[in-house]
Amino acid sequence: MHMKAKVIDVEYEQPEGASCSTHHAWARVPAEPAPEERAALKARIRELLRQENAVMVSHYYVHPDLQDLAEETGGIVSDSLEMARFGRDHAAHTLVVSGVRFMGETAKILSPDKRILMPDLDATCSLDLGCPITEFSAFCDAHPDRTVVVYANTSAAVKARSDWLVTSSCALDIVRALKDQGQKILWAPDRHLGSYIERETGADMVMWRGSCIVHDEFKGFELELLKKEHPRAKVLVHPESPAAVIALADAVGSTSGILKAAQEMDAPQFIVATDKGMMHKLRKLNPGKVFYEAPTAGSSATCKSCAHCPWMAMNSLAGVLHVLETGANEISVDAALIPRARVPIDRMLAFTAALKAGRPVGSLVPDIGAA
Ligand code: SF4
Repeated sequence: MHMKAKVIDVEYEQPEGASCSTHHAWARVPAEPAPEERAALKARIRELLRQENAVMVSHYYVHPDLQDLAEETGGIVSDSLEMARFGRDHAAHTLVVSGVRFMGETAKILSPDKRILMPDLDATCSLDLGCPITEFSAFCDAHPDRTVVVYANTSAAVKARSDWLVTSSCALDIVRALKDQGQKILWAPDRHLGSYIERETGADMVMWRGSCIVHDEFKGFELELLKKEHPRAKVLVHPESPAAVIALADAVGSTSGILKAAQEMDAPQFIVATDKGMMHKLRKLNPGKVFYEAPTAGSSATCKSCAHCPWMAMNSLAGVLHVLETGANEISVDAALIPRARVPIDRMLAFTAALKAGRPVGSLVPDIGAA
C-alpha cells in the first residue's frame, strides 16, 4: 500500500500497429441460481473436489459464492500473485481456477503436471487481448537495452518474452530494485499502473498503452463530488485507474493492499475504486465499516460502466460443477513455451518470498540481465 503521489504527465511510446485495450466484451453472465439450487450445486462441488483431489483457487473479483466456497473447502480467494503461489504449492492434482484465462495459464506454467480447469475458457482480460505477442515482441526488439517487465495479465507467449513478471502488489518493489541496479525498463501492458510506478520510483520506463476496461472507467471529477457527499470517507484506489483518480486517493494498492488498508485505516467509511467484486470480501472482513463504489459515470463519462469485469462475471457455481463433472475446459499451454515463461514468474515469486521474509532482495536482481 502506497500513499498518494503527485501526478505528472507521461509520454508513452506506442508500438506502431499495436492495438491496445479497445476490446469491449459482452459477457455471458450466468443466471443466479435459486437458493435450493445454489445449495445443491455447492454440495455436489464439495463432493467432487474430494473425489477428484481438486482445490478451488478464486480471485477477489468473481462471484461471492465462488469466493466463499473456495475458502470453505480449503482453497483460496486472493489476488493473482497469491493465486499463483497457492496453486504451485498445493498438493491437489487438479486446480479449479475461477478468474480469467491468464490466471489459469500461470497456474499451468507453474504446475505443468497438474490439471487446471476453468469455468469458462472465454473469460479473458482487456490487457491480455491488447498485447499480442507479435507486436509486443517488435516493441521489445526496438528497445534491446531495457529490462522487460510485464504485468501478470498477459499471455504465456508475452511472459516468455519478458525478464520479469509483476502483479500490482509487487510491481513497485520490483521496479524500484531494478532501478537501484541502474536498469532501464520496458513496461507492458497497463499504462495507468506503469505511469503510477514511474511517478513513484522515478525509473526510466517506456510503456505499452494497454488498459483495464473496468478501472479505466473510474472518473476523477465525479469522485471529487462523491467525496464531498461523504467527507469522512477515505478513498482506496487500484493503480490500474487513471491518474486523476489516483490523485484523489488516500491509499493506492492492489486488491490485497486495498483489503489491508480498509482493515488498518481508522475510518468508518471508504470509497473504493476497483472492481465491485471486491466489495464482498471488504464487507465480510469489516462489518462495522461502510463501503461505497467509486463512480464510473456522470457528466465526464463517455459511457456508463458497472465497475465489474465482464470476464470475471462469466465464472459461476454451475461452471465449476460442469468442469469437475466432465473435465471440460482444461487449460493447456504450449509445452515449448513453459520453461521460458516460467523464468519471469519464478523471479517474481523468489523476490516476493525474500521480501516477505525480510531477506535482502538486491542480490536477486543483478543475476538477471536481459534474457
Ligand atoms: S478487471 Fe480489468 S485487469 Fe482484471 S481481468 Fe478484468 S479486464 Fe483484466
